[in-house]
Amino acid sequence: MPSRPPPLKQRPRQKAWSTTHKSRQERGYGRAHELMREQVLADEPLCRPCAKQGRVTQATIADHIKPKAEGGTDDRENYQPICDLCHVLKTAAEAKRAKARKA
Ligand SMILES: [Zn+2]
Repeated sequence: MPSRPPPLKQRPRQKAWSTTHKSRQERGYGRAHELMREQVLADEPLCRPCAKQGRVTQATIADHIKPKAEGGTDDRENYQPICDLCHVLKTAAEAKRAKARKA
């Protein structure tokens, strides 16, 4: 006896414009940060953590060497150029430390 196919479920459609992406301003990065990023990447176009490990990777982000949550400043010396992957890894490590501090 043939069984009936399961009823088709209506897929919730994602609206193209309903994104959770926030602008730089909403994330707390303003014009000053944008300028600093341009300057850092112009000074050092390659990812610094990657370079330390002998990798040549294009940097895309100006990162706080010492996170602001850990007392870092917005000075040029506290910025380093890093790539997306290093940023993800560094942010994860920082989040772990932040959690440990709260615990
Ligand atoms: Zn990197």
